[in-house]
Amino acid sequence: MKSRSKKSFIYLFLAVVLGILVSYTIAADKDQKKQEEILPKKQTKKRIMDDTEWKEKLTPEQYRILRKAGTERPFGEVYSTFKKQGLGKYVCAGCDTELFSSNEKFDSKCGWPSFYDPSKAKNVKTAVDYHLGYPRTEVLCAVCDGHLGHVFTGEGFDTPTDKRYCINGTVLKFIPAESADSEEKPEKPVSPGK
Ligand SMILES: [Zn+2]
Repeated sequence: MKSRSKKSFIYLFLAVVLGILVSYTIAADKDQKKQEEILPKKQTKKRIMDDTEWKEKLTPEQYRILRKAGTERPFGEVYSTFKKQGLGKYVCAGCDTELFSSNEKFDSKCGWPSFYDPSKAKNVKTAVDYHLGYPRTEVLCAVCDGHLGHVFTGEGFDTPTDKRYCINGTVLKFIPAESADSEEKPEKPVSPGK
């Protein structure tokens, strides 16, 4: 009787030890899998310049807006020039990347150049800023990280997106379309629908 219970105690002890060993092995394997999941992130091609180089390349007003998130005066000379421009594309003053075109240009009457969409979506990125104490969606050049303006949604404009990319004209360079290959439609004035 005594030896039988001793035997079963040994069996029980062995079973417990085996159980502990198995669970340790499973845990170690999980840790290894977790580490394997951490993959290197893809990097986009960036144009990086230091502050001195930016100051050399840009006018003081372009520098203030593009690099310091400034805003140009509404209804200024830049705006009236913008309104007169015909067909063409708008590139970043910092890095010459195409951002907008006359196809998406519309007259929001807000005092700053307005577009309902970028012409090259991958070149434009957004971020949230709290410079005025409430959240606004900042618009930036995805290549040089330059500040372009803000985007507002759902204002009731009769455009395909009902978005207003409110952009500082100072940081856009206009490149007129070649008259021969222009298939673009002329700009139409649009007023809020509501
Ligand atoms: Zn840029």
